[in-house]
Amino acid sequence: MDKLLDFFFPPRCQLCGDTSNLGSTGQLCVACTHDLQLNLTACRHCAVPLNFEELNQCGKCIKSAPVYDSCWSPFIYAQPLEWMIQQLKFNAKLSYAPLLSNLMISNLPEQFYKNQTADVIIPMPLHNSRLKQRGFNQSSLLAAPLAKALGLPVDTNSCQRILNTDHQTGKNARQRQQNIKNAFTFNNHFNYRHVLVFDDVVTTGSSVAELSKTIKLAGVNRVDVWSLARAERNH
Ligand SMILES: [Zn+2]
Ligand SMILES: [Zn+2]
Repeated sequence: MDKLLDFFFPPRCQLCGDTSNLGSTGQLCVACTHDLQLNLTACRHCAVPLNFEELNQCGKCIKSAPVYDSCWSPFIYAQPLEWMIQQLKFNAKLSYAPLLSNLMISNLPEQFYKNQTADVIIPMPLHNSRLKQRGFNQSSLLAAPLAKALGLPVDTNSCQRILNTDHQTGKNARQRQQNIKNAFTFNNHFNYRHVLVFDDVVTTGSSVAELSKTIKLAGVNRVDVWSLARAERNH
């Protein structure tokens, strides 16, 4: 049956529509996969793509280390990935969620399987009114297949976003920090010790920093941040 379906509706690259040379995800062709920018030289604390003169951590983290313990973002937030993420979030193209998750899974470092000590993955929560408006939380959609690959649970209940903040777009780092202050609550009734926070895109890092702070204040020892994409610093 699958073969018959493939004959009439061959799998296509979700970016360019090509039916040949589909890569390991089966949803993107090899050429389009090469167009994605891997975040290979990233700050070891906050995962911001580094300038050529920076060694392994950015100037900002040297001055003051972020509240979270590490950040892993395998891709740079740039085209054509940016377009796919926006299609998912703002155009409800839910078919992009498994594709984007698979891209992360295929870049998961081996030690994340071998030495994983996290108790749980907590997707960046949306405020209820935003969730109603959008109908889904993209971070939850993206985190679920990753959690499954690693055998970790996803918790979407213990953490709430209580402030319906303005969009962070167009604000500078300081304004974002103010805007997001006290936006979250976290109830550590499962006594987590090590939490993975998942956000689709980390821009200045102010949302994940505020959420990590809230989680640590509830007694969690270690918070690592994972995101699909990390914006370059001029964002
Ligand atoms: Zn393609
Ligand atoms: Zn940094």
